[in-house]
Amino acid sequence: MPRARRRVLLWSALFLLLLVALSLLVMLTVRHEAGRAQDQVDTLAAEAASQVRSALLGAQQHLQELGAQAPQAERWRAVAAELLLQQGAMLRIERREADWRMTAHVDAPSSPPLFAALARRELDADAAAACTAARRISSPVFSSSYFVPLSGGAGLEVIDLCLPLQAGTRDEGFLVATLSLQALLARALPAEQQRRHELSFVEGDGARLARSGVRRGLGVYRADSLVDLPGSTLRLRVDSVAGPPSLIPNLATALVLGLSVALFALVLLLARDVGRRARAESLLAEALAFRKAMEDSLITGLRARDRQGRITYVNPAFCAMVGFAPDELLGSTRPPYWPPELAEFYQQRQTLRLGTRRPDDHASREGFESLFMRKNGERFAAMIYEAPLVDGQGQHAGWMSAVLDISAQRRVEELSRQQQERLQATARLATIGEMASLLSHELNQPLAAIASYASGSLNLIEQPDGGTPQMLHEALQRIAEQAERAGRVIKSVHDFVRRREQLRETIGVDLLLEAVLPLVRLQARKSGTRVDVELGAPVPRVVCDRTMVEQVLLNLARNAIQAMEHTQDPAARVLRIRVRQTHERWVTFYVADAGPGIDRELGARLFTPFFTTRREGMGLGLSLCRTVVEQHGGAMDFDSPVPGARGGTEFRFTLPAAPVTKVDVPEALTQQTSDS
Ligand code: ADP
Repeated sequence: MPRARRRVLLWSALFLLLLVALSLLVMLTVRHEAGRAQDQVDTLAAEAASQVRSALLGAQQHLQELGAQAPQAERWRAVAAELLLQQGAMLRIERREADWRMTAHVDAPSSPPLFAALARRELDADAAAACTAARRISSPVFSSSYFVPLSGGAGLEVIDLCLPLQAGTRDEGFLVATLSLQALLARALPAEQQRRHELSFVEGDGARLARSGVRRGLGVYRADSLVDLPGSTLRLRVDSVAGPPSLIPNLATALVLGLSVALFALVLLLARDVGRRARAESLLAEALAFRKAMEDSLITGLRARDRQGRITYVNPAFCAMVGFAPDELLGSTRPPYWPPELAEFYQQRQTLRLGTRRPDDHASREGFESLFMRKNGERFAAMIYEAPLVDGQGQHAGWMSAVLDISAQRRVEELSRQQQERLQATARLATIGEMASLLSHELNQPLAAIASYASGSLNLIEQPDGGTPQMLHEALQRIAEQAERAGRVIKSVHDFVRRREQLRETIGVDLLLEAVLPLVRLQARKSGTRVDVELGAPVPRVVCDRTMVEQVLLNLARNAIQAMEHTQDPAARVLRIRVRQTHERWVTFYVADAGPGIDRELGARLFTPFFTTRREGMGLGLSLCRTVVEQHGGAMDFDSPVPGARGGTEFRFTLPAAPVTKVDVPEALTQQTSDS
């Protein structure tokens, strides 16, 4: 369902609910008020009835007191008159004999004489009936009410109270008191209630006998109550002058109430909404703070650019890297960290990049190297990884770059390269140092030969016959040969030490070996070791730094020869150097000896720098060998015992093979040299 329709529906439902609640509220309030008014009238009716009853019983009591009085005419009259004065509702008291003859009567002075319009005789039937009943039960009895017309057309509803007078069992007559019902009603309720209610005595059919009250009742709130009297029962009615509860004041109350409820509900909803918003805001603030902390603590420089190449964001790490403040960078399309000499080129590069890249161009994430300039003019190398920036609507908004200052890394690399070089040189010198004794031994032979040929020649010259020129020539030739031999030895060492170029070149393995073999043989010869070289066919070609690889070969060969120095059987001292193209891209070198082998414990530490078991050793040889090989992308390892043999050690390493070219001449070259 669309959101707008749902909102309309929800609001309609809320409105309807409020309307229903409001109507219910009005109805309940009206009903409550009506109930309350009715209850009040019920209570008043009961109260009035009890009041009337107690007034009548009070009158009865006073009459009894009068009955106790001696009936001397004057005295009695005076007491009766006083009683009439006290009892407002009592209008007349009569004294009758047992035969119903009236012997005395007194009328209340305040009201007009009762039986002026119609004689008492005509109207005493009810009183007589009451007296008959009273005599029968020997106790006072009330008559039914009856109407007494007064002169002038008006009239009064009255009730008679008959008190039988008895002396022992003898009847002495009756006292009859006539009471006004209207007067009884007028005294039944306080004046205030009389103003708001109409009180009346009614007959069974509802006909009104007597009434009191300022206004007439409206018949909306009405209550009847019975006044039970000995011999008669009166029905008393209270009728409120109030009409049905009016709607307007109730509606106003209900409206106020309803609005309060609605307001309360709204406040609740608002509070909930505000709470939710506050929570969302605090979460957002937390996320922002986290993002800020993250950006500030990053050591990677971050830079964002829009699609026009303008810088839109830089983080503190980036500013620290280039030395410019954010204000100097933001908004610029030709940033101040571009070295002036490269700015034009960078501008072109950027135009090209901004024009061609698409957000889904993943190649752009690979990173590229660039040269930036710090504020102090210092240039530094930076690695830049760039990714497209996509905004909330999925639109390509620009680019985000992570920038790494790699100048330190470059410095370390350079330092390490220099150190490596120095180490290599040291190792080479150490090798030569070790070989010095060997050299002296090696040079000793030609020098000794030269010396003996020289002294032989001198002898020949000094002889009287001077020797044959032929002999002298031969001796001098020998001297020249030996000198050349010594020169060769010295040159091979010289060549080895002097060669410093670091360039990678494609070279035949035979040439590599040719350079080191004279030195290897030199050493081998000393311990009577045979050197076997097997190059395979065609002779593999490798891409390498010639000087370094020669050093590796020389080290391995030297280690192998040294390992066999203590081998008992001289015939067993064989150094085998093999080279094979083991893979399209790799050439493997094997240097094997028949020495004592290398146990597992030793093997684990073999390539550690400065690990040696020899007194004069430096322990750098193998570690340098491995470094050199790995720098070429190859690997170095060893097997002990030599595969397929009972002992010895075989070191092997790989170098990248030269790509096959047409100039490779298949060449079967298997050299087997034996020196002893
Ligand atoms: P150095 O020759 O100066 O001792 P290396 O790194 O060349 O340093 O060799 C380290 C150690 O490895 C040697 O001292 C030796 O114990 C052991 N080693 C090297 N090559 C062999 C081998 N072919 N046979 C037995 N042990 C060897």
